[in-house]
Amino acid sequence: METILVVEDEEPVRELVSMYLKKEGFRVETAEDGEKALTMARSFAPDLILLDLMLPRLDGWSVCKEIRKTMSVPIIMLTARGEEFDRVMGLELGADDYITKPFSPREMLARVKAVLRRAKQAGEQNTVLSYPGLLIDHSASRVEVNGREIQFTPKEFELLWFLASHPRRVYSREQLLENVWGYAYPGDYRTIDTHIKRLRQKLKNPGAKNYIVTVWGKGYRFEVTNE
Ligand code: CA
Repeated sequence: METILVVEDEEPVRELVSMYLKKEGFRVETAEDGEKALTMARSFAPDLILLDLMLPRLDGWSVCKEIRKTMSVPIIMLTARGEEFDRVMGLELGADDYITKPFSPREMLARVKAVLRRAKQAGEQNTVLSYPGLLIDHSASRVEVNGREIQFTPKEFELLWFLASHPRRVYSREQLLENVWGYAYPGDYRTIDTHIKRLRQKLKNPGAKNYIVTVWGKGYRFEVTNE
């Protein structure tokens, strides 16, 4: 199930957008100001963000700019008619599309699906991930640590690929189960920990780089560090 973060300070709009997205089978999280949007985007890694431009505490521009520093999540800007919206600036800041309010639910859903589809295609085209001391080739299911091929089980490989395709994004155990195993039963969190442990053992290299970071109380994220 894909998760969409709806950032909108006007409650009726927020509720309506959420309702239509839920009806289409999306999971929806909401934020009513820019700061909360940033915190939420970082903690639960949505698949797409619908981002209102005029927001309390931190406006949509700043939120977009901040998110783009570390995340590649697709962003659709929500702008009000009469609001000055510089499309070029929006796209430069990393927004994928924009919708002008008031919009019809059908238009909104069509844009959301189109942007998600594009993001998925772009992700699929990228079949080789390369990080210092680590090369992951998806089409060949091959992993090289410091130039040496290391064997991974299919699930270990998928988990590594998933994390490494979304660097610096924090994933909870539940999200990892859902995305890699395709289901989420709360009791199965130990499966994740076991797999992470094995990944870390296999990824160990003389440079002693750490690729999978534990985020206490939240989950795991992929990041190349020297610690
Ligand atoms: Ca607003």
